[in-house]
Amino acid sequence: MIRLREAYEAEERERLAGCAVKSADSRGRVVPEPEHRYRTAFQRDRDRVVHSRAFRRLEYKTQVFVHHEGDHYRNRLTHTLEGAQVARTIARALRLNEDLAEAIVLAHDLGHTPFGHAGERVLDALLEADGGFDHNRQSLRIVDLLEERYPGFRGLNLTQETREGILKHGAGWDHPVPLPPETPQHCLEAQLADLADEIAYTNHDLDDGLRAGLLRPEDLTGLSLWREAREKAEARAVGSSEAVIAAQTIVSLLDRLATDVIETAAQRIAAAGADSPDAVRALDAPAVAFSDSVRHELRVLKKHLFERFYLHPRVLRATRRAERILGDLYEAYRRAPELLPEHVSARFETDGRARAIADYIAGMTDGFAQAEHRRLGRLHDGD
Ligand code: MG
Repeated sequence: MIRLREAYEAEERERLAGCAVKSADSRGRVVPEPEHRYRTAFQRDRDRVVHSRAFRRLEYKTQVFVHHEGDHYRNRLTHTLEGAQVARTIARALRLNEDLAEAIVLAHDLGHTPFGHAGERVLDALLEADGGFDHNRQSLRIVDLLEERYPGFRGLNLTQETREGILKHGAGWDHPVPLPPETPQHCLEAQLADLADEIAYTNHDLDDGLRAGLLRPEDLTGLSLWREAREKAEARAVGSSEAVIAAQTIVSLLDRLATDVIETAAQRIAAAGADSPDAVRALDAPAVAFSDSVRHELRVLKKHLFERFYLHPRVLRATRRAERILGDLYEAYRRAPELLPEHVSARFETDGRARAIADYIAGMTDGFAQAEHRRLGRLHDGD
């Protein structure tokens, strides 16, 4: 009755494309472990990510809107789940390793600070003399070091392939765990995870921006990707309410982008003749990509999102507040380390004071950072 790991591994060899990463060929984990009886290496990675504390905290971290602004908006967790869904669709269509792509996307935003990119910018500036701060690098710190769940190793001890996908580019910094070998390109599953993230946030940010009234539909009609998606939705949902047509517009756009990636990648992989993961890694350009025309139109659409949504006065107000909160927290902990929990100050020696404080702040949820800010304010007032 029970289907064992070996059966999945054999099936992968039959079902997946030559250029797909096979779980039985994984380059393994930094600390060797026996394989699981009925889960493949990448299924196990995915499960370790889902069971981590950092994953649960994503629910209370900002995507664009701070969590108390409305229950319908995306947070970091729902963004991650939508991205993972897009990744599975693309991976399956291209006969790539769906479990690996899913594990990468589920882990890709673990390192995000509270309050989204505003928090990342503040920490990066504060840590200028100590190596800076970047959420991709922080995601790797979490899975390699900061999660404490297993005997015998720190972190989640994920496979090299999942870590390769989380790392993305730019390993020009100190990381205490050996990094996956650097290659010109990442495996296809890592490449597609990156685009699935972009497809997910572009669509759901449009959706949230319109719902919140920060984006205006009439401003979007000048953008060809949006206009085509809207026309398709209107034709498909004749006689439906505006709510249905609006939802179908997002559906159409998402489908258009995912389909474009699938078709473009299929062509490029075939043209490059890359028939193994290592052949893919040696190529001089990523094979999973948007077509030139969609990439251009998407750039125009994202520019609009950037100017009208991410820089909208209402979003900027929240951004300024977030910057102040994280800046205050960092300064307070630097000045008075006794305010920190012991597990943080205990790492001053090994990780450096700045990095240990940044790890602590980056791990906070929006709500915890706000509460901690109030607590420290009260302590300060009581001086
Ligand atoms: Mg993301």
